[in-house]
Amino acid sequence: MAEKIVAVKGMNDILPPESARWEWLEETVRSLMARYAYRNIRTPIVEPTPLFVRSLGEVTDIVEKEMYSFEDKLNGEALTLRPESTAGVVRAVIEHSMLYEGGKRLYYMGPMFRHERPQRGRYRQFHQIGAEALGFAGAEVDAELILLADALWKALGLKDVRLEINSLGQPEERRQHRAELIAHFEKNAALLDDDALRRLHSNPLRILDTKNPAMQAVVESAPKLIDFLGEASLKHFNGVKAMLEANGIGYRINPRLVRGMDYYNLTVFEFITESLGAQGTICAGGRYDYLMEQIGGKPAPAVGWALGVERVLELIKENGKAVPALVPDAYAVIPEASALPVALQTLQALRAAGVSVQMHAGAGLEGMGSMKSQFKKADGSGARFALIFGEAELAQGCVAVKALRGDKMDAAQAQMLRKLQDVPVWAHTLR
Ligand code: ATP
Ligand code: MG
Repeated sequence: MAEKIVAVKGMNDILPPESARWEWLEETVRSLMARYAYRNIRTPIVEPTPLFVRSLGEVTDIVEKEMYSFEDKLNGEALTLRPESTAGVVRAVIEHSMLYEGGKRLYYMGPMFRHERPQRGRYRQFHQIGAEALGFAGAEVDAELILLADALWKALGLKDVRLEINSLGQPEERRQHRAELIAHFEKNAALLDDDALRRLHSNPLRILDTKNPAMQAVVESAPKLIDFLGEASLKHFNGVKAMLEANGIGYRINPRLVRGMDYYNLTVFEFITESLGAQGTICAGGRYDYLMEQIGGKPAPAVGWALGVERVLELIKENGKAVPALVPDAYAVIPEASALPVALQTLQALRAAGVSVQMHAGAGLEGMGSMKSQFKKADGSGARFALIFGEAELAQGCVAVKALRGDKMDAAQAQMLRKLQDVPVWAHTLR
């Protein structure tokens, strides 16, 4: 036998029945996005590498070590599998002048790629669902996005999700804070790890984001950006807070919340759970008013978030709603191959009427298999009842219906029977 080929490490197949949970989440998101008037955008999975270097920043985990970058063999272009989608969305918005007539509310779903150490809640191909509102400067859109996420947690039945927020202010306020931050870390250089020392002058804010327990004290005592905010920044932040409070959304201000990417300003936030161990951030976002011009567009404010699909699904398993399993309404038992044409025709019409039916597949014209084996399959399918295309029944122009789960007919079964009677092909062929 030839050697087996397996999936790339950290990249997972999503198989049934697990995939049904993904579809359920995606459907829940779609209907929610529609209610908030966010529209779907689909950008390429591969983008020019400079897009990410310029938008995320050189000194970020993603750009430094997590990108799947390669050279296009044909023209030498530097390309990267997208590690996130905000950059691509902003590129598309600029490329298609999408803000020409005013702001746009967009959402996306799809795979992202980061070369990280695979572990629970951390994969190399993972999936994000994101919402972005571009062209809106007001705090009410920050609040709208947070409320949208909160509504999603409620729709998914998630408990144990808390919100942390912070304000990163504006570039000038950050510059002042940065100087004092560097001074603080220089004074305590002996307490810094290698990563922090390397970032001390290039990206000191990111040191606050460290996951190293040994550095918590030095980070805790660092000057807080929030103390450097000017009047306008504070007004924006207070506006967001007031709107959250008016909506009963609990939050905690985390002065150390800085987010991984360079492009954020003003409001930043994360939704965190304690139920998933170390990988507890299920959704993260914030304002990025300078990204448009940073990648060559006309300046325009923007705000958005992205959630990690794998982590949210994991949390649904822990404490969310029971996801309805996908089972067919009915299983078609076909004792003799001679009934196949009529059976197929009837099932086709039934499905068109909205009934889901799994057809028994035996050896076809060579024989459909014993009734016993067919009923075993019918049971295994999870269907509520069997439609039996037996010779005797067909001769009378009907099919037998047998309940597979309990013997009382419930509302769903009754409805299906009505649909069965409505099927025109059925009536036409057999009556
Ligand atoms: P972390 O601090 O966990 O590395 P991050 O700051 O890199 O997260 P973002 O880039 O903000 O994450 O992505 C938004 C969300 O996407 C995260 O909150 C998380 O739920 C999810 N996510 C990020 N990286 C991964 C990954 N490698 N595998 C699975 N989910 C991920
Ligand atoms: Mg990360």
